Amino acid sequence: MNPNPPEPKQASRFRFLRQGLARLAALALGVLGGMSVFGARRKNTVWQIDPLKCVQCERCATECVIAPSAVKCVQSYPICGYCQLCFGYFQPNAPGLTSAAENQLCPTGAIERLFVEEPYWEYNIIEDACIGCAKCVKACEVFGNASFYLQVRHDLCLNCNNCSIAMRCPSGAWERVVADQPYKLKHKPAPKNAVAALKRERPPWLV
Ligand code: SF4
Ligand code: SF4
Ligand code: SF4
Repeated sequence: MNPNPPEPKQASRFRFLRQGLARLAALALGVLGGMSVFGARRKNTVWQIDPLKCVQCERCATECVIAPSAVKCVQSYPICGYCQLCFGYFQPNAPGLTSAAENQLCPTGAIERLFVEEPYWEYNIIEDACIGCAKCVKACEVFGNASFYLQVRHDLCLNCNNCSIAMRCPSGAWERVVADQPYKLKHKPAPKNAVAALKRERPPWLV
């Protein structure tokens, strides 16, 4: 006599259904677990631009979901030459070396030019006016010390899952960085005892 007689048809259908439901529940738990790990990872990272990869294509000004863009130009004071003739500030064929609007390269007048002492001038970004177009960045990179560069400002950025600028950046300059080190500085922050030697302790946008 067969020790394992076949189950009645209805019982075997029920067992099949129960196993299917159990597998489905396990799958759902797996997906939820994966999503929460992804969510936690995403929460701990933010978007940032690697200034050494940016090719100043100007898309940072036009592709952000907020307007004006969460990307702004920043000034690296330790790198800046404090040049009298700043190529990031003046139009290539500027009629004069003054702060008159027709001499300026920035389309929104977002760069402030201040006299320091002969022959040095200081250039500051007026953040509220900057649209992240990178025109000054490109000129400073080609003809100057490359002290201007773009960064995502985390007091403005929405940290979108699929950043619309990152998706269209032609040079792969966008990456996720850990949230407690959200900026990719061109210079190393000055050691504390050297801070007094700098014109400013820290760039104002980093405070
Ligand atoms: S989209 Fe990329 S290459 Fe273009 S300006 Fe922004 S960071 Fe630079
Ligand atoms: S030129 Fe463009 S990136 Fe540079 S300060 Fe003006 S708006 Fe900002
Ligand atoms: S993550 Fe969103 S808000 Fe931030 S820079 Fe990209 S598109 Fe703009």
